[in-house]
Amino acid sequence: MANPSLLILAGDGIGPEVMDEVKRIIGWFGDKRDLTFDVSEDLVGGAAYDAHGVPLHDDTMAKAQEVDAVLLGAVGGPKYDDLDFSVKPERGLLRLRKEMDLFANLRPAQCFDALADFSSLKKELIAGLDIMIVRELTSGVYFGEPRGIHIEDNMRVGINTQRYTEAEIERVARAAFELAKKRGNKVCSMEKANVMESGILWRDVVNEVHQAEYADVELSHMYADNGAMQLVRAPKQFDVILTDNLFGDILSDCAAMLTGSLGMLPSASLGLPMANGRPKAMYEPVHGSAPDIAGQGKANPIACILSFAMALRYSFDEGAEADRLEAAIEKVLADGARTADLMGPEGGTAFGTTEMGDAILAALDASL
Ligand code: NAD
Repeated sequence: MANPSLLILAGDGIGPEVMDEVKRIIGWFGDKRDLTFDVSEDLVGGAAYDAHGVPLHDDTMAKAQEVDAVLLGAVGGPKYDDLDFSVKPERGLLRLRKEMDLFANLRPAQCFDALADFSSLKKELIAGLDIMIVRELTSGVYFGEPRGIHIEDNMRVGINTQRYTEAEIERVARAAFELAKKRGNKVCSMEKANVMESGILWRDVVNEVHQAEYADVELSHMYADNGAMQLVRAPKQFDVILTDNLFGDILSDCAAMLTGSLGMLPSASLGLPMANGRPKAMYEPVHGSAPDIAGQGKANPIACILSFAMALRYSFDEGAEADRLEAAIEKVLADGARTADLMGPEGGTAFGTTEMGDAILAALDASL
């Protein structure tokens, strides 16, 4: 069997710095666990613009379509702020998501015990938290037509349209139920069926998929506004939260910040299965290119490393190895290793990006 393939697009700012640590972790799995990936690398974002005048070259797009998974660092930076909208670094990212049809965005909110004090919530509310938000990513109000700003009765009117087809709801619901089966077996679907027709359809279709294919998974429904309240009141009641693009945008940021620093948050975006059964997939940290600390060796690589752990679990069926990597990170944090973004008021000496990578590699060695 051929090795699984990965395309690394490190991007801009701290992207290449944190990705260097991921490359060492990938190498470790090849050396020590006989889990070797065929890794290729290419440019995205500002780096691609500098080289090719576009934020994603067609050849790179074609490669992304062929590999088993894409790992992305981050894009953007002040140098590119004045570029035309059509060639801004973020357009490279959006093109990847659109052309790979990555409709299910997975954002875990997981609390490492050692960082429980970082949350704005009481420690007992979030210690041990492990929830997953599945957000529909390619439809809904951010894409629906008609849209625009026009004049009506001598007044400007702004219009966006929330629109979902049955097929769009079905496929993301399936993704959420499949995930729940690998976790706590519970899905809570959030919409506003009380005031939106698209919400009524969303609830109906989720119920239909549940009854037809996933009756063994526990399903509940919640209005998205109540969902936001419940996330900050008692977040541990949730396992998988399934929601649309707009509500998911807000709820996933809210859930993520329950756990503290941006430097800790991974994500996955998945599409339909390819011929080999693996889903189209892109894994990336939630944070951006952090121009304020880029080039200083200070960035926290954990979000990017946890994104690779998600790739192990969701693209390569290597759940036990993903657990091993997450446990190594948990151990390093429990032992007190902290990058600058994780330093509390008590201070101490911060680890640099490479030192944090060293510590995680040592913990992986110790896990053997
Ligand atoms: P950002 O996420 O880059 O940074 C926000 C703050 O968090 C900064 O103070 C930064 O230093 C800190 N931070 C982020 N990641 C960190 C890490 N791994 N370790 C330590 N500290 C970290 O967001 P921003 O400042 O709003 O945006 C900067 C650039 O990134 C912009 O050009 C923006 O468009 C782009 N951006 C890209 C993505 C992406 O590539 N997916 C996402 C968000 C923003």
